[in-house]
Amino acid sequence: LTHFLERARTYFPRSEIVSRNPDKSLHRYTFADFYKRTCKLANALTRLGVKSGDRVATLCWNHYRHLEVYYAAPAMGAVVHTLNLRLHPNDLGYIARHAEDTVLVVDRSLLPLFEKFADHVPSLRHVIVVPDAGPAPEGKLDYEQLLAPESDSFDFPELDEKSAAMLCYTSGTTGNPKGVLYSHRSIVLHTLGSCMPDVVGMRESDTVLPVVPMFHAAAWGLAFDGIFTGAKMVMPGPHLDPQSLLDLMAAEKVTLAGGVPTIWIGILALLDQEPKKWDLSAMRSMLIGGSAAPPALIDGFRKRHGLEVVHAWGMTELSPVGTMAKLKQELKHASPEEQFDARATQGYALPFVETRVVADDGRHLPWDGKTMGELEVRGPWVAASYFNDEGKDRFTADGWFKTGDVVTLDKNGYVRICDRAKEVIKSGGEWISSVALENALMAHPAVLEAAVFAGKHAKWDERPLAAVVLKPGHTATKQELAAHLEKQFAKFWMPDDYLFIQQIPRNSTGKFLKAKLREEFGDHLV
Ligand code: ATP
Ligand code: MG
Repeated sequence: LTHFLERARTYFPRSEIVSRNPDKSLHRYTFADFYKRTCKLANALTRLGVKSGDRVATLCWNHYRHLEVYYAAPAMGAVVHTLNLRLHPNDLGYIARHAEDTVLVVDRSLLPLFEKFADHVPSLRHVIVVPDAGPAPEGKLDYEQLLAPESDSFDFPELDEKSAAMLCYTSGTTGNPKGVLYSHRSIVLHTLGSCMPDVVGMRESDTVLPVVPMFHAAAWGLAFDGIFTGAKMVMPGPHLDPQSLLDLMAAEKVTLAGGVPTIWIGILALLDQEPKKWDLSAMRSMLIGGSAAPPALIDGFRKRHGLEVVHAWGMTELSPVGTMAKLKQELKHASPEEQFDARATQGYALPFVETRVVADDGRHLPWDGKTMGELEVRGPWVAASYFNDEGKDRFTADGWFKTGDVVTLDKNGYVRICDRAKEVIKSGGEWISSVALENALMAHPAVLEAAVFAGKHAKWDERPLAAVVLKPGHTATKQELAAHLEKQFAKFWMPDDYLFIQQIPRNSTGKFLKAKLREEFGDHLV
């Protein structure tokens, strides 16, 4: 990553970083200043005794100082460990202790959260407070005071490209979060792969907004691609609500933004209410991933607002992107319907990534667009193990990783996520894709959200159940929803019942927590 910093200093000294402060004012500075401050931070960390391989944790929102930590710690040989600030303090304590973090950089506004687990991290030697709303309290190091006396050049050490640069834990949707270590090499190759013209194709003329919180590996793609290509970076700060994001996109003429479906659902709803309020004509692509994006969402942006949404699939274990649908210009030879169909899949593998689909018994399955099996991937930025050596059985000796996602692959290599292996509904030996049913339900005009999950069944083992949240002011009966699905699905795929609820339980990044639904309603049919 030192190369990225050197490029920032020499190639793109005038590129800009714009970062929104908690009071909504904007902090602007150039890549040349970014380089200097990153050197200062590297000097400060060295003075604090941070050694090669030490973990420097962050508990921060998306702002310029977080970006400085992203680069300073790896460039001096340490490892950045991003903590998910939406987790429960017990989980944060477990993760920080498990990772043996030695330094923590924390937003002042998040200090109360930190205090709740501070006692559980015996390895922690220093706490550096980002003065996002007033200076650091007594007894704590202040980020700016720490940087002030330091030199703005740093003698970066020679690093083995395979040495660790970043550490991130998975979202914990299906069990305990698992730690994933990333080398400099895997981050650099992921940057090269995703910057290819037919993938994200980021360039100096772009303006990039990472909407995904920077504690999640999904934010790294944009954060590393941006500095590498000299693009203007826009950091949204702590206010990730749709209104402020749209204001920022219009004001800064953002060309690329990346986020999870939940945030785009909110943004689409706001745009539908006031379609003329924001000028988004600069927008080249909105990248969407992290959980299944309903086709109705992609189509809504495309048809009603002329905005391009590009679907990507990734995992923490993949640093983060594995597959991505093509951008519009690359699909120019396809008809609009074909373009849309392609974009409603999760796309095909990024350069250097291999994919295959495998049955329960290890057989390789055909790429016919309909046979479901577990997706396995191999590539230069796919993790080789978990940090704590857990889950060894998911990594094969020849470099394949069992993703735990159930997919189909079509003849062109387009991946369609059907489910998680733990959530696919197994009814009398047949597999039923909950994601396909959810997408169809969410295309119904009265449905805001739908989650389909396995209900226990005496005869068939499992049968699909649909939890449905209706749009405010709309009504729909079970019979109407069933009639809507009947047009598209075989009889045995049809949910056995529809449960109208107020809210679908979600994890910290907005994914459905189906285990909670199974716990609560799983016995509904027995
Ligand atoms: P844990 O592994 O701890 O249970 P998690 O799998 O949710 O949590 P992440 O690494 O954040 O942790 O998420 C990766 C998962 O998110 C993928 O395995 C996949 O199930 C889902 N996912 C990511 N992108 C998409 C997408 N575009 N469409 C559907 N699902 C997606
Ligand atoms: Mg996972």
